[in-house]
Amino acid sequence: MLISAPHHDAITEVARGLYAAAARERPALFRVRGMRGALLAQALDDEALKRALFQFVDVLPQLDGAGAIARHFGAYLRGRPLKGPWGRLLALGEHPLMAWAVRASVVRIARLFLIEESERAVAAIMREVGRAGASVTLDAVGEAVLTEAEADEYVQRYRNVVAWQANAGGRPNASIKLTALAPRFDPIDPEGSTARALARARPLMHDVIAHGAALTIDMEQHELKPLIIATFRALVEAYPEPGWQPGIALQAYLPETEQDVADLVQWARALGRRVTIRLVKGAYWDTEVALAAQRKWPVPVFVDKEATDASYERLTRALLAATDAIHPAIAGHNLRSLAHAIAFARERGVSRDAWEIQMLYGMAEPLQHAIAQTGTQLRIYVPTGELVAGIAYLIRRLLENTASTSILRQTYVDGRDIEALLAAPRGHEHTPVPPAPGRFTNTPLLDWSVSGVRTRFAAALASVRGQLGRRYPLPLPAGAPVAGEHRSVNPARPDEVLGTVEMTDAAGAAQAIERAARVFLQWRETPASTRVALCRRAAGLMLERREALAAWEVLEQGKNWREADADVAEAIDYLEYYAAEMERLDGWRDTMSFAGESNMARWEPRGVAVVIAPWNFPLGILTGMTAAALVTGNCTIMKPATPALIVAHLVHSILVEAGFPPEVCQLVPGSGAQLGDTLVDHPDVQLIAFTGSRDVGLRILERSAKQASGQLHVKRIVCEMGGKNAIIVDDDADLDEAVLQTLHSAFGYQGQKCSACSRLIAVGAVHDRLVERLARALDAWEYGPPEDPRFVFGPLITRNAQKKVLEYTGIGRSEGTLAYLGRVPESGYYAPPAIFTGIEPRHRLAQEEIFGPVLSVLRAPSFDAALGIALDSQYALTGGVFSRFPAHLALARARYRVGDLYLNRRITGARVGAQPFGGYRLSGTGIQAGGEEYLKQFMWSRVVTENTIRHGYVA
Ligand code: NAD
Repeated sequence: MLISAPHHDAITEVARGLYAAAARERPALFRVRGMRGALLAQALDDEALKRALFQFVDVLPQLDGAGAIARHFGAYLRGRPLKGPWGRLLALGEHPLMAWAVRASVVRIARLFLIEESERAVAAIMREVGRAGASVTLDAVGEAVLTEAEADEYVQRYRNVVAWQANAGGRPNASIKLTALAPRFDPIDPEGSTARALARARPLMHDVIAHGAALTIDMEQHELKPLIIATFRALVEAYPEPGWQPGIALQAYLPETEQDVADLVQWARALGRRVTIRLVKGAYWDTEVALAAQRKWPVPVFVDKEATDASYERLTRALLAATDAIHPAIAGHNLRSLAHAIAFARERGVSRDAWEIQMLYGMAEPLQHAIAQTGTQLRIYVPTGELVAGIAYLIRRLLENTASTSILRQTYVDGRDIEALLAAPRGHEHTPVPPAPGRFTNTPLLDWSVSGVRTRFAAALASVRGQLGRRYPLPLPAGAPVAGEHRSVNPARPDEVLGTVEMTDAAGAAQAIERAARVFLQWRETPASTRVALCRRAAGLMLERREALAAWEVLEQGKNWREADADVAEAIDYLEYYAAEMERLDGWRDTMSFAGESNMARWEPRGVAVVIAPWNFPLGILTGMTAAALVTGNCTIMKPATPALIVAHLVHSILVEAGFPPEVCQLVPGSGAQLGDTLVDHPDVQLIAFTGSRDVGLRILERSAKQASGQLHVKRIVCEMGGKNAIIVDDDADLDEAVLQTLHSAFGYQGQKCSACSRLIAVGAVHDRLVERLARALDAWEYGPPEDPRFVFGPLITRNAQKKVLEYTGIGRSEGTLAYLGRVPESGYYAPPAIFTGIEPRHRLAQEEIFGPVLSVLRAPSFDAALGIALDSQYALTGGVFSRFPAHLALARARYRVGDLYLNRRITGARVGAQPFGGYRLSGTGIQAGGEEYLKQFMWSRVVTENTIRHGYVA
């Protein structure tokens, strides 16, 4: 329903009145004097300085001691032209005075936005706000929690906030983030997440009802929105008591919000319950845009600021037109937007107590006072808390206040003309930007917040379950020897047979190689464009069947939904990426021709390629190596790992269905011990692409160097092996991030990734806090069959893998101290995740690849020492650093020599093209998969030179 806006003159009239009243006063932030004021004033004029200052403020709460503060302040701000007292302080270097002055300034600025979390401060703020004719809503600041204990603490803080307000004689009003109520608040498991949040909210709800309080659920990132709305509804329905006032915040920067409002209005009417909707513009714009770009998801927000403003006005009208069901709380600081709300409410005759305006504590106080004077109900959103928890909040507010598009800044610093501030926003259409055609882009991962995506995945699992117990005949021509069969079982329930796969032996492998050799000359002549098209067709088929393929991985490899989907996406990416690369590399290219001499080179396929793959990325790695071999014109023998044979059958059948001739793309299922040597030694094999363990890789390298009888070429070996990857956590790291990302790096897919973190190196004093939070965060995970999305952590791949991990857990107990051991189900190949402290670099736990959920924590006295420990390994595959000290990040960049180094993020999940993957030392031969050099290894280069001078003229 389109509700027309009030006349522009009516809005302008209200706005002029507000402006006139507000202009007499400056907001506190722009009134700050003294040293703080000097720094802020300078920062407002200098974007780079502002960024550096905010980065410093971000790290400040984490810094222990004067030295660390001074060092960081120096590192971020040195080189910036700081004037006055700050310039002089900076020149002092690591002086205690500097640290003191800096910290005191930031704390005092923080207190402009964030009050102390105490009964006294709450009572005081209620009095202060009350005197100004307004009321409050209180928020205990903090971002997402990682552990159950943190969530309990959070609820207790809310109970305090509610009680303190009641004690001060007001009706308590609190605003809460649902991610603070449950460490696992995950859209992939909506029912479980809602249940966890409601269970934790129970004591708080008891207080809310007892005091007849108002409780508003804050909105967070877009990915969480459906879950937040669903949990909000469940909460309201679970507590039908009429005395309390439920509310939810919605964001105008999302085009979807109009529909959400319509749905909530309808729901509230049906329920006969009036709920508050707090309308905000939205505080996560930068993150939403960045995450969408990273995930290749459509940008969920309006890209244009004015479009958000226009949406905000439309939503304001929709809410004010539904006051029978909704108590609108129009939250913002924009003069035009608020004037529009007031003018519209007046025009419609909405009564004073049927709606309110909300503004943030510390923001645009002159406007707050002016609004209160109009007689409109005003509520001030007051965050309470400490600096550490409040820092993200503080930065958002500082950014908001000082952005050059900020109305506050325009009004109070830039002194912009009121007419310019009052122009009606133009509503632009929300048009997602499509990727540039012809360029490779990664396959978007599934968005689990969409219910249709989850339903499709569950249906795929059910459909795959209907196909269990099949027989997979040997996919080789009649006559190939069947040398046994493999019963593929579900590692979460080993008595469940998924299928029976026929295997062949060395003779079968030799036959396949000879068959491939016979067709090679013909296949070599296929135009590259044909091979490219076949790869793209295979990618299309995988995309169509992505859920079914992933569902098989859930059952055969024990991957959870997310991990399985990521592996399918990677397989598709490899097909697409290598197809595009082949287009680039195909054909004759001029090396360096001269008058009278042409010099041309081209890449040629090598011959028969054997692809030996591991089981842990059963689609991604097998498809990647196979696609590289095929698209470059080789005939390919696929030798998958035994625990991944059903998935290998699916990959093979897709490649053949896409059009690769069966004799060009052959699947040879068999045990590595039985037929591996034949594949490696055979004189007709020209290339071996191997990914797997170090020992097998080295064996292949050694054997392939020997010339077999009748062999006419040097074998090319592409070899990717194991890892013993380390993450360094510096003493200034953002601990929330470091804990969360290490958790996923070390225990994602039960630690069975070559890129997984198995050594955690803690610098200095961060050690104890890091280990404690990590252990508690891990404890919030649930373990069980990954078919159920509730379980992040599933079984290991085989009984042997389980045995090996349990053995290492024993070794860990003798070498170090067990800091955490998870609880896992009895049946199935589960091994409990373990964290060991007190591990020394020479320990087996610090040196050997375990390939399971065992994390060793090592101490380092300094960042430099940590780097030394990280590099003390025969492997060099991935590595990570969490630090906010620029010099340490620079040092890591220069000296932390591993194939893939990740700074301030998890060390797993490389994406094709963006993070070419592969290691150094005994991790690999150094040319990375999914990168621009990779395909060349599958070919050889030849050059043709022609003299074009003929009897005195140049042809
Ligand atoms: P694995 O070495 O046991 O097996 C890999 C493949 O080699 C399987 O297909 C296996 O059947 C085959 N094989 C075994 N013996 C053979 C022989 N004698 N000759 C030829 N082939 C033989 O490894 P896995 O358990 O399947 O996978 C886990 C290992 O792979 C870990 O070490 C992990 O770090 C590594 N990995 C590395 C990468 C990477 O990109 N660097 C990626 C994934 C896995």
